[in-house]
Amino acid sequence: MTGSKDSRCAFVTGASQGIGRAIASRLAAEGWSLALVARRSEVLAEVASTLKGAPSVTCHACDVGDADQVTAAVAAAVEAHGQIDALVNNAGITQDALLVRMKPEQWEKVLRVNLDGTYYCIREVAPRMMRQRSGRIVNIASVVGQMGNAGQANYCASKAGVIGLTKATARELASRGVTVNAVAPGFIETEMTADLPESAVTQMKGQIPLQRLGTPEDVAACVAFLLSDAASYVTGQVLNCDGGMVMRG
Ligand code: NAP
Repeated sequence: MTGSKDSRCAFVTGASQGIGRAIASRLAAEGWSLALVARRSEVLAEVASTLKGAPSVTCHACDVGDADQVTAAVAAAVEAHGQIDALVNNAGITQDALLVRMKPEQWEKVLRVNLDGTYYCIREVAPRMMRQRSGRIVNIASVVGQMGNAGQANYCASKAGVIGLTKATARELASRGVTVNAVAPGFIETEMTADLPESAVTQMKGQIPLQRLGTPEDVAACVAFLLSDAASYVTGQVLNCDGGMVMRG
């Protein structure tokens, strides 16, 4: 660990690359202390070494789909930082297949990391935030949790679950001064989408009113807003960061 216990601390899962790394970078620049979480500790350490502006940074190797590992990571982060003021549930995976060919292990693994992992982190952090009578939780969902996507039944179900979990938790925690919101990214340029063929990317852009893929920094800006004082009256909401793909009335 580097730094002091005096600043606000954000616990960010999936911080070793992509959107989670951009969230860590943005929050560091805003002066948050950070507890970075992912499975690969050496990559987390490299990310931590590049962050500018964070008063203190700790790294926690943890599979969020393992309840015991989450319990240990949250306890270590609280020990190091004093308390957790913000939880960003960003860790997520895909294992795509058409439903009729999807193996039970593919279904189970994606649900375990994306949905169970989000639940495990909230379950550990929320009681502490309730005692503090303050806290912010942001869950990273996806537009496909709202729209569906062929070949991603497991992923879509997990992200729709994250949206339901967000709303239920927002209602349960509101009276304790804790807000819970989701960000639903559209197509974002990360390693998760890097392997897509050019034709798929062109087809995607055709579905996006703003005519470009999003960047991890676009998503990080939405998360930073939901963690800011400006969002103190916002809870139970899904903020789409998707170039206009999904427009709801
Ligand atoms: P990514 O580049 O594949 O990064 C995923 C991150 O999650 C990595 O840091 C990975 O680190 C971590 N992770 C994976 N499994 C984990 C586990 N079991 N326990 C702890 N950490 C784990 O993905 P991304 O594109 O940045 O996506 C981040 C989030 O945004 C995900 O929830 C994803 O579903 C969502 N999203 C992405 C897009 C997009 O277009 N990219 C669109 C909508 C939503 P380790 O490998 O070190 O564990």
